Amino acid sequence: MLEAAERAGANVHQETLATGVDAGSAGVVVEARRRGKGVTYRSRLIAGADGANSVVGTSAGKLADDPRHIAVAQRAYATGFEGDLGEVVCFFDEALFPGYGWVFPMAGGRANLGIGILSETRRRLDLNVPSLFGEFVERLRRNHPRCAGLELCSAPIGGIVRTYGGAGANHFDGGVLIGDAGSFVDPMTGEGITPAAESALLAAPVLRAALESGRFDAQQLSAYEDAFRAYFDPAMTFLDLCAAVLRNRWLARPWLKAFARGCELAQADPTFARIGGSYFGGLDIQPFGILSSVWVRLVEDIVLAWPRSFGTLARAPGSRPTSLGDLAEWQAAWSRSFLADPFWHTRWAWDVQRKTLRLLSSLQERDPRAAGLL
Ligand SMILES: Cc1cc2nc3c(=O)[nH]c(=O)nc-3n(C[C@H](O)[C@H](O)[C@H](O)COP(=O)(O)OP(=O)(O)OC[C@H]3O[C@@H](n4cnc5c(N)ncnc54)[C@H](O)[C@@H]3O)c2cc1C
Repeated sequence: MLEAAERAGANVHQETLATGVDAGSAGVVVEARRRGKGVTYRSRLIAGADGANSVVGTSAGKLADDPRHIAVAQRAYATGFEGDLGEVVCFFDEALFPGYGWVFPMAGGRANLGIGILSETRRRLDLNVPSLFGEFVERLRRNHPRCAGLELCSAPIGGIVRTYGGAGANHFDGGVLIGDAGSFVDPMTGEGITPAAESALLAAPVLRAALESGRFDAQQLSAYEDAFRAYFDPAMTFLDLCAAVLRNRWLARPWLKAFARGCELAQADPTFARIGGSYFGGLDIQPFGILSSVWVRLVEDIVLAWPRSFGTLARAPGSRPTSLGDLAEWQAAWSRSFLADPFWHTRWAWDVQRKTLRLLSSLQERDPRAAGLL
């Protein structure tokens, strides 16, 4: 992408660290260190694409910083994975809730493995991400035959991702924020590369229009917020609600059981798998379709739990349908959450309600992201 930008006429300044940005509608000044020397750049506009710890976003006072919308992650490369190259494997462990572990197979038996967990949970429980990562790799080796021979071949690297639920206006006098700087990461999966590129495509015409009109104030650049909200909100509002629901770690066990049951049903029903499962890394998010297909299965399972419990309905061999014990577990987990921290629990429940109302007011039949931008 960098080479393509250069071919298109961009001037690239490698080994240059921006240290401060002063942006205004009359122009932008960037202070930087280049090969040990201080340099100053001046321009009419700035597009802050400098990642999750954006200097541009910080200088403009626009970097989102709510731990409920930030995930902390760590990943490394490993050899010795015996999986199928085309198969991404995700692990939903109680220790990583709300979050997950992944193994992305690469050529030659190598794999990208990592974990991500919500920053708010990490802070509340004082969890150590490198330790969680180490324990995750150990569990993989111990419990998964295809991972028994895993050996790390790179040092683990960590980082944070700012998810869309925390995204602010992302425009200011003299500039815009794109990619991680603007919190465009999928709140459920932590996927940020594609939305970063999409946000750049949405910003480009707005910046061009500003250059053509000679106006660089926030009002002129607010067309960027209009564009990214129209494009991302229909899917991301729903994904943000899902992430908010899962924020309560007291509910980890019943959620993981329900999720395992959902996967079991999905294996026998490709349509349910395609629609109901698309909230986790789907390309065409249809909140209404997902909610209705999941609710139908859930209600069916709960209604049938009664005859199953009294032995009047047999269950398929190997299957683990919802039982009355599971329903009691939900109730107990909810009560424990409330008793442990009534203030946090009430704020969390209110947050979920608020996001539900927001979703209901923004439901759309089609996800604009499915059509893409090019
Ligand atoms: C551990 C981990 C695993 C991840 N795995 C995935 C994944 O599998 N799939 C996925 O889609 N997303 C993943 N993500 C998220 C993904 O990495 C980001 O969403 C994506 O890289 C965002 O792109 P970006 O260009 O906005 O920011 P970045 O990729 O962070 O790029 C920012 C650039 O700005 C430069 N920069 C920063 N500060 C300055 C400065 N002061 N001066 C000059 N230059 C500066 C940096 O050097 C960098 O080149 C992961 C994130 C983490 C932390």
